[in-house]
Amino acid sequence: MLRTHTCGELRIEHTGQKVELSGWVQRIRDKGGMIWIDLRDRYGITQLIFQEGETNSEVIEKVREMGREFVINAKGEVKERYSKNDKIPTGDVEVFVEDIEILNSSKVPPFTIEDDTDGGEELRMKYRYLDLRRNVVRKNLVLRHKLAQATRRYLDGQDFLEVETPVLIKSTPEGARDFVVPSRMNAGEFYALPQSPQTFKQLLMVSGYDRYFQIVKCFRDEDLRADRQPEFTQIDCEMAFVEQEDILDTFEGMTKSLFKEVLNVDVEDFKRMPYSEAMKYYGSDKPDTRFDMKFVELNEVAQNKGFKVFDSAELVVGIVAEGCGDYSRKQVDELTKWVQRPQIGAKGLVYVKCNEDGSFKSSVDKFFSQDDLKGWAEKMNASAGDLLLILSGDTNTVRKQLNELRLEMGKRLGLRDNKVFAPLWVVDFPLLEWDEESERYHAMHHPFTSPKAEDISKLDTDPGAVRANAYDLVINGVEIGGGSIRIHDQKTQSLMFDHLGFTKEEAKKQFGFLMEAFEYGAPPHGGIAFGFDRLCALFGGAESIRDFIAFPKNNSGRDIMIDSPATIDRDQLHELHLKIEVEE
Ligand code: ASP
Repeated sequence: MLRTHTCGELRIEHTGQKVELSGWVQRIRDKGGMIWIDLRDRYGITQLIFQEGETNSEVIEKVREMGREFVINAKGEVKERYSKNDKIPTGDVEVFVEDIEILNSSKVPPFTIEDDTDGGEELRMKYRYLDLRRNVVRKNLVLRHKLAQATRRYLDGQDFLEVETPVLIKSTPEGARDFVVPSRMNAGEFYALPQSPQTFKQLLMVSGYDRYFQIVKCFRDEDLRADRQPEFTQIDCEMAFVEQEDILDTFEGMTKSLFKEVLNVDVEDFKRMPYSEAMKYYGSDKPDTRFDMKFVELNEVAQNKGFKVFDSAELVVGIVAEGCGDYSRKQVDELTKWVQRPQIGAKGLVYVKCNEDGSFKSSVDKFFSQDDLKGWAEKMNASAGDLLLILSGDTNTVRKQLNELRLEMGKRLGLRDNKVFAPLWVVDFPLLEWDEESERYHAMHHPFTSPKAEDISKLDTDPGAVRANAYDLVINGVEIGGGSIRIHDQKTQSLMFDHLGFTKEEAKKQFGFLMEAFEYGAPPHGGIAFGFDRLCALFGGAESIRDFIAFPKNNSGRDIMIDSPATIDRDQLHELHLKIEVEE
């Protein structure tokens, strides 16, 4: 080994020992008589010291040839420092160097390898291998590793088997576009990359592997957002001989154990909320329940008083911003502009200030009396000093808009602390979702999700009202996981395909293998998948998953370091039986 210790290891008790370290030069300070080097590796930083007159002059000469990020090896003695640095664990000591070797030189890096780097996003991504040398990024990857290990330990302890499923498969519909891979040996045919191992894990249940998991890459060709990557990782799980309650129990247990083991945080028992309630009170199927600020519907008290905007609306609904009654005109105008931005799209915002003297000041004083406004405040449980914020319009649209405003107010009021965790099971999702574009119902989760037995009769009469045995795990407004109890009999599965508008032939072509498997003794089963990158970001207190992926893609799905996607040459295309016409 080219070292006796790492750069994070030496402490005062090592004083007097001869040691050998290897690492990267973080910084050199040359004060003439004295030279210091901060030597860095994955474990930390140790200060090396050289003194003219004491240190061999050849060594000093070599030091003066070095620059940032040179890889060096140093041998010397551990000494106590005169001026200690309490910011780093090795800050009590330094190594008085007797011999040094340059293992490799380095070009000047395009940005500084420091916590506060001068490199912009684009540059850091191009040189990601240098970015990964930075503490902040490394810490995130260490956290990811710990989470993955703790997950494996927990699930192994519960008798789950880790089984690898194939990556070159046939399309599994999970609502996104597939990435496809042309087959050289089968002209004109394509593999699809899995959007998830959904059908394979269900087949494993038919095989009797009653507890399966896999930490697995999944691929979805979707438009990218901060919390999306074209390839991402799931903790994918499936269990046989279970009901919904068993799955929720098992994975609540796993999540709690991850919080305890990795963050040393005890989280309370997870709350439960039906989907319909989440939509009614939070306007979202992934409510951030770190704070209350529930929606209050005001149709009864606010309509039919001559204010056309409200009278013509399907829903009038508001939230209480506690203690914001003293917002200035400017602040309220700014909030109004905020909800009117195209991303939110509200036409306007109605506000009511609950004054300390018991009176009210609103943006609709022309239409409503003090008594009317008092009625609203009472219905909303508001007190003097609060601000009521009210939107109106079509139910679905207005709920979405008020959800955004609620989250924004929560942020402004400091109610979304990233050290506080509020886990929630959202249950009873609808089975089907109406798609305006194709004018038919789609599976809200995926076509293998089972309807609730008591709702099956509604499939023909009121398909939108059928609830599914489907659940999401939401933590702090982020969808961390989702799953369902599956259909396990061939008859219900083919009924489901009928309702989703698959012809018998289409269903057979796409899912014949699964339907056939169900004829050979499929046990009742269900499962869940966690978005592993999101889980890492949540544990790391960050919003973007990109910082927790070693080599992520940018907003246009490109890896700018390896420059991919890229064209391939004519011969390769030919071999794959492909002709490409690029649109100019
Ligand atoms: N395959 C599903 C998903 O990726 C998860 C599941 O139903 O287990 O969302």
